[in-house]
Amino acid sequence: MLNLYLAPRSGKAPMPADEAIDDVLAFLADERVIGNPLGPEAYAPGVAVSALFHPDADELLLPAELTFESLSLHRARRPRFLPVEVPADEFEAAVCTVCEEPIDVDALLAGLEELVYRPIERFAYTCPSCRTDLSLFQIDFGQPTAVARFWIKIEGAAFGRLTPAFVEQLARRLGHPLVVVPEVPEDDIDDWVPARRARRGRRGR
Ligand SMILES: [Zn+2]
Repeated sequence: MLNLYLAPRSGKAPMPADEAIDDVLAFLADERVIGNPLGPEAYAPGVAVSALFHPDADELLLPAELTFESLSLHRARRPRFLPVEVPADEFEAAVCTVCEEPIDVDALLAGLEELVYRPIERFAYTCPSCRTDLSLFQIDFGQPTAVARFWIKIEGAAFGRLTPAFVEQLARRLGHPLVVVPEVPEDDIDDWVPARRARRGRRGR
């Protein structure tokens, strides 16, 4: 299980219009990807939820397993770094884009944790190799990330890739290209390893 964030790709953390967000919810409900409300702006999966997941998932999971726990909408007053729960193990691949040397993960995580208290622009991290004071956008995290004030969070997703045409539909309605940011909760990293191996295996073929 993992979480997926869908957020505007832009570094300017745009806030879509309320009408655009309503349109996205209506689309998800019409397509029966979301079902009953679970709370304010949170929904259970609908009967056609499997359509949300990339066809490659069929090799690993049964159609009935292609689901999520909840889909929810989030708005933040200040831009937030996504994924919110930083998957420490996943950031081992992070590199400085100035010198392409690896990042000191512990120092990076400390800098990211401070973003709860300070704006993104004041993110403080100095590359240990080239001594550049890096902005968040000068770090290659080795996985998609985003800085956003609006996002859709798919919690407990069965598969890490979504149907591209579906993501495009959502992007068109929101008026912004979207990035899909994965987040592997610390407790679930072991569970996720088989799926990750399968992904690597396919790439190596
Ligand atoms: Zn560097």
